[in-house]
Amino acid sequence: MKDFIQILKRFLPPYKSDLIMSFVYNLLAAVFGVFSFMMMQPVLEILFKDAEVVSTKVPWEINIDALKHNFYYYTTQIKIEYGADSTLLFVGLVLLVAVFFKVTFTYLGSYHTVGLRNGVVRDMRNMIYDKIVNLPIPFFTEEKKGDIIARSTGDVQEVENSVMNSLDMFIKNPILIIVSLVAMIVMSPQLTLFSFVLLPIAGFIIGRIGRSLKKTSRLGQNKMGDLLSTIEETLSGLRIIKAFTAEDKVTEKFSNENNDYRRIMNSLMRRRVLAHPVSEFLGTIVIVIVLWYGGRLILSGESNLSGSSFMVYLVLFYSIINPAKAFSKAFFSIQKGLAAMERIDQILEAESTIVDKADAKQVDKFEKAIEYRNVSFSYNGEKKVLKNINLEIPKGKTVALVGQSGSGKTTFVDLLPRFYDVIEGGIFVDGKDIRDLKIADMRNLMGNVNQESILFNDTIFNNIAFGVENATQEEVEAAAKIANAHDFITATENSYQTNIGDRGGKLSGGQRQRLSIARAVLKNPPIMILDEATSALDTESERLVQDALDKLMQNRTSVVIAHRLSTVKNADLICVFHEGEIVERGKHDELIKLDGTYKKLNDMQML
Ligand code: ADP
Ligand code: MG
Repeated sequence: MKDFIQILKRFLPPYKSDLIMSFVYNLLAAVFGVFSFMMMQPVLEILFKDAEVVSTKVPWEINIDALKHNFYYYTTQIKIEYGADSTLLFVGLVLLVAVFFKVTFTYLGSYHTVGLRNGVVRDMRNMIYDKIVNLPIPFFTEEKKGDIIARSTGDVQEVENSVMNSLDMFIKNPILIIVSLVAMIVMSPQLTLFSFVLLPIAGFIIGRIGRSLKKTSRLGQNKMGDLLSTIEETLSGLRIIKAFTAEDKVTEKFSNENNDYRRIMNSLMRRRVLAHPVSEFLGTIVIVIVLWYGGRLILSGESNLSGSSFMVYLVLFYSIINPAKAFSKAFFSIQKGLAAMERIDQILEAESTIVDKADAKQVDKFEKAIEYRNVSFSYNGEKKVLKNINLEIPKGKTVALVGQSGSGKTTFVDLLPRFYDVIEGGIFVDGKDIRDLKIADMRNLMGNVNQESILFNDTIFNNIAFGVENATQEEVEAAAKIANAHDFITATENSYQTNIGDRGGKLSGGQRQRLSIARAVLKNPPIMILDEATSALDTESERLVQDALDKLMQNRTSVVIAHRLSTVKNADLICVFHEGEIVERGKHDELIKLDGTYKKLNDMQML
C-alpha cells in the first residue's frame, strides 16, 4: 500500500485539477446514489401499507427529518388524491430523476479520471524514452533490448491496467462507502456498528491470498521481457537463422520460453480470479449475518427499524459490499502493477554515469590538439583493454590506428565522445579534460562513421539531415555529392524522399555507408572518427566509399581505424595497437623500416 501511494505521489501532481473534479463529481454521485436507494423506502411502505399517514407540513429546512417529513406529506397527499397506483408512479419518477443525476455525476467523475490516467501513462512513457535516450552506452550492453521494450510497453500497460484502473475506484469507492455509511448510521446506529466489525475480518482474509501475487507477477513480466528479446533478436538475425537453417532451434527456444510464460501466467491469473469468488462468498456471509442480526432486532421490537426500512438498509449495505469487493479485487491487481512499476523503475532510476558536471564548460571550437594522457580503460573492472596510452593528435592531422582485431582500437575512439569514461588518466581537448566540458558541445565537434552504418527507417533526406536542424535541400544534396551518394540517390524511386526501410535495409552496404558519410559531411565537425568504415564492403563499393572518405577527411582532424593498411599509407601518424597498447608509431615508411609488427601486418596484406 505504501508503494502504491508512493506511485500516486510521483505521478499525480500535474493532474491535481482532474483529481479534485473527479472527487467532487463522485461525491455528488454518491449522494444521489444513496438518495435513490432511500427513495425505495416510501415505495415499499406504500406497498406494505405500513406508512403512517402524514397530514401536516413542516417548514422547509435543510434537514433530513424535515425533508423526509415533507416528502411523506406530499406522497400521502398524492395517495389520497390520485390513489396508490399514481403514487407509485410519482415516486418512481422521483427515483428516475435521482438516478439520472447519479449516473451523470458518475460519468463526469470517470471523465476526469480517464484524463488523469492517460496523462500519467503518457508521462511515464515519455520519462522512460527520455531516460533511454540519455542513459550512457554501457547500460545497454548490460540490458537486453527486448526487455527494455517490454518495460516501456508491457509494463507501462500493466501499471495502467492495475494501478490506474484502481485509481478510479480508489476515488469513487471510499466516498460511496462513507456516504452510504452515514445514511446507514442515521437509519440504525446499532446495526451499523455490528456489521462493521465484520468487514475488516473479511478484508484480512483477502489480503492473505493476495500476498504472493506480486512475486509471481514480476516473474511473468521478466519472462515477457525474455520473449520480446528473442523476437527482437530473431528479427535482426533472420538472415543468419535461415542461412544456418536454425529455424527449428530458435523456434524451440521461443516455444520453451513462451511455455514458461504460460505457466507463470496460469498460476498468476488463477490466483487472481480467486479474488472474485472469495470476496463474493465472504460478502454473502456478512449479509446473512446482518440479515439474521437485523431481523432479530426488528422481530424483537428492540429497534425502531420497520420492515421496509430494514430492506432499504440492506440495499444500502449491499451497495457497500460491492465497492468493498472491488477493493479486494483492486488489491490483487495493484500487486501486479507494483511489480511492473519496479521493473520500470529499474530503468528510470538507472544512474546516468556520464552526465554534465554542474560547472561544465562550453566549447564551440577545436583549436590545438586532442591528447590522451596515461589512459587506461576496462569494461568490467578486471581486464584492462587499454593500458596507459599516451597520444597527441594535433589539429588538422590524420592519425591512423591499426592492429589486430580485439586490440582495443574501437575502445580507444569510443572514449573520445565519452561513450565510456576512462578509468585512469584523461583525455584533453585543447588542454581541457573532456569530463569538464558540456557533453553535447564536445560531441558536436565530432563526426562518426562506423563499420556498421546506423540509419533510421526514414527518407534519405532525413537520414542525411539527421544531426542538423533545418538543413536545406541544397545543403543535403551538396553533402551527398561529396559522399558520392547523389547519383544513386537520384536513381531511387522518389530520389531524396525515398524511404530506406528498417536500418536502411533497401540499400546496399556501400550505399548505406555513403549515406553515413553524407550525414557526417553535412554536420561538418572539425574532428572525424572513422572506425573501419570500409571493412564491410566489397572492393568495388569500397573504392567509391574510400574516395568519399578522403574528401570527408580533407581539412579535418581525423582518427581513422583502418583494416586495410593501404588506405592509411599517407596518414600523418600511424599507431599500431597490440593488446591495449600502442607498440609502434610513426609514418608508413618509418614503420616499414622498423621491421616490426607493422611490417608483419603489411606483409600479410600484401599476400
Ligand atoms: P578492436 O576495435 O581493436 O577490434 P575493441 O576495442 O572492439 O577492439 O575490443 C577490445 C577488447 O575489449 C576486446 O578484447 C573485446 O573483447 C573487449 N570489448 C569490446 N567491447 C566490449 C564490451 N562492450 N564489453 C566488454 N568487453 C568489450
Ligand atoms: Mg573495432
